[in-house]
Amino acid sequence: MTADIPEEQRALKVLIADDDPMARLLLETHLRKWGHEVVVSADGEEAWSNLEGDDPPKLAILDWMMPKRDGLDICTALRASGSEPYVYVIFLTSKSSQEDIVRGLEAGADDYIVKPFDYNELRTRVRAGARIVKLQDDLIAALKASEFQASHDSLTTLLNRSAILEMLCRELKRAEREETPISVIIADIDHFKVVNDSHGHLVGDQVLKATAARLASFMRPYDFCGRYGGEEFLLVVPGCTKETAVQVAERLRVGVSHKPIETTGGPVQVTLSLGVAEAEQPRDVDGLIRHADEALYRAKRLGRDRTES
Ligand code: GH3
Ligand code: MG
Ligand code: MG
Repeated sequence: MTADIPEEQRALKVLIADDDPMARLLLETHLRKWGHEVVVSADGEEAWSNLEGDDPPKLAILDWMMPKRDGLDICTALRASGSEPYVYVIFLTSKSSQEDIVRGLEAGADDYIVKPFDYNELRTRVRAGARIVKLQDDLIAALKASEFQASHDSLTTLLNRSAILEMLCRELKRAEREETPISVIIADIDHFKVVNDSHGHLVGDQVLKATAARLASFMRPYDFCGRYGGEEFLLVVPGCTKETAVQVAERLRVGVSHKPIETTGGPVQVTLSLGVAEAEQPRDVDGLIRHADEALYRAKRLGRDRTES
C-alpha cells in the first residue's frame, strides 16, 4: 500500500541543478516546504560532484542546458556508472519537442517535465519518485537481510557452517597464492550436555550465544569465526603458523572461561577444548579440518579446558 506512506517518510535528499538563479530559488523553496532536504548546483560539474560524492541525493531534478556539463550528459554518465543506490532523475527543462523528451528518457531519466510547469504537478511527480526510491530501498534492505540469513547462524549470528567453510576455502587459496601460513582452530564447549540437562535448553542457548559473542570479541579483526556444529566453532586464522594459532587459541580459551556467563538460570561456568592445525602443502580443506578435529579429541581425552595441536 505505497499510496499510504506518510508524507514525512517520503522526504528525500533532492538535488536541484539549474543555472537560472530564480528557478533554483523557487524550486528550493518549494522542495523544502514539502519536507525534502535540498542540495543545489548552479552548473553541470557541480551537480555531478554532488551525485558522485558521499551520501548522494536520491532524486535529482536536472535542467538540460547548463554550463560546463549538460543534464543529458550527466544522466547518461550516471546510468553508465551504475552507481548504487539508484538516483531517480527528473528532467525539468524548456526543451519541449517530442524528440527531446525521447532523448531525455533514453538517456535514463525517469521522468520529464517541460517548463513552464505547475508546482502541484512537480510535487506529485516528486512524490511518485519518492515512492520508487522507497521501494528500491526496501528491496535492497530485504535482499541484504536474506543474504545475511543465508550465511549466518540465527542463534549466535556467527557465520553458519557452509559460510565458514566457504571462507576457509577462499582463505586457503589466498594463502596459497601469497605463500603465507594459515591455520584453523576448532573450539568445542566442554560438557555442554550437562548445561542443557541441568539448566534446560533455553539456558543452553543463552550460553551458546554468549560463548559465541566472547569468541568474536577476542578474535583479531582479520580472523573468521563460524558455528561449525551444535556447540562447536570453527575459526580461520590467516597468516598464522601452528605455534601462533595455539597462542590465539589459548587467548580464546582464557577469554571465554575467565568468568561465568550470566543466564536467566543463574551464572554458568563454561570451558572450551580447542584443536589447532596448520595447513600443509598442498592445502586441502578436509585434511586440515581432520587434523584440527584430531587435536580437539586429544584435548578432550587429556582432560578438557585445554588446547592441543
Ligand atoms: P564434550 O565435553 O565431550 O564436548 O561433551 P558435550 O556434552 O559438550 O558434548 P556432546 O556432543 O555429548 O553434547 C553436545 C550437546 O550440545 C548435545 C546437544 O543437545 C547440545 N546442543 C547442540 N546444539 C544446541 C543448541 O543449539 N542449543 C542447545 N541448547 N544445545 C545444543
Ligand atoms: Mg562439547
Ligand atoms: Mg561437540
